[in-house]
Amino acid sequence: MTASARLLIVGPQGSGKGTQGVRVAETFGIPVVSTGDIFRANIKQGTDLGKKVTAILDAGDLVPDELTSEIVRDRLAQDDASNGFLLDGYPRNTAQVAQLDAFLEERGESLDAVILLDVPREESLERLRLRAIEQGRSDDTDEAIAHRLDIYEHETSPIIEIYQERGIVDRIDGVGSLDEITERISTALNARGVGQQLV
Ligand code: AMP
Repeated sequence: MTASARLLIVGPQGSGKGTQGVRVAETFGIPVVSTGDIFRANIKQGTDLGKKVTAILDAGDLVPDELTSEIVRDRLAQDDASNGFLLDGYPRNTAQVAQLDAFLEERGESLDAVILLDVPREESLERLRLRAIEQGRSDDTDEAIAHRLDIYEHETSPIIEIYQERGIVDRIDGVGSLDEITERISTALNARGVGQQLV
């Protein structure tokens, strides 16, 4: 008996989606597929992909859609994602939503829920400045941070409407302790019956 959960976590940079994504994925025993983490790992290892995307990440720009979607398709085709996954950072614009839809449709799958972490812009900015000091991420400069938040507002926010029309968005208040926020997400997913369907 296996439960499946195909999830997406969305929120502005600094909303805590990475941290909450890991916690939620652990609960369901599914892998986190974070495009940002995949790009950063490739940069660190100096792969061809890493070399291609270094300047893009440093500027806070988006990696081309086709390339990003191909990477996600390959990752989701791996065995550990056959029963579910939690996407973090992808899709990030409407073109990527269409590319993900096409891929999932081929597999007879669809997303069960989209967790939207709601955090005011000022709070996100503050958290990102802190992370810049603590982790020294090269794309956490003031300029790149502001640019990424603008991209979120203009390119990523519209994807929420698409998923809202499908009735799968759970808007979660992202301000509070880590445990409180995880609890809010779990409550919302339980109410939706996510992970409880037996295959
Ligand atoms: P993140 O860790 O999600 O904040 O992503 C870090 C950076 O990786 C972003 O600023 C983009 O440069 C790149 N990136 C991550 N996910 C995507 C995506 N879905 N499409 C395009 N670029 C992405």
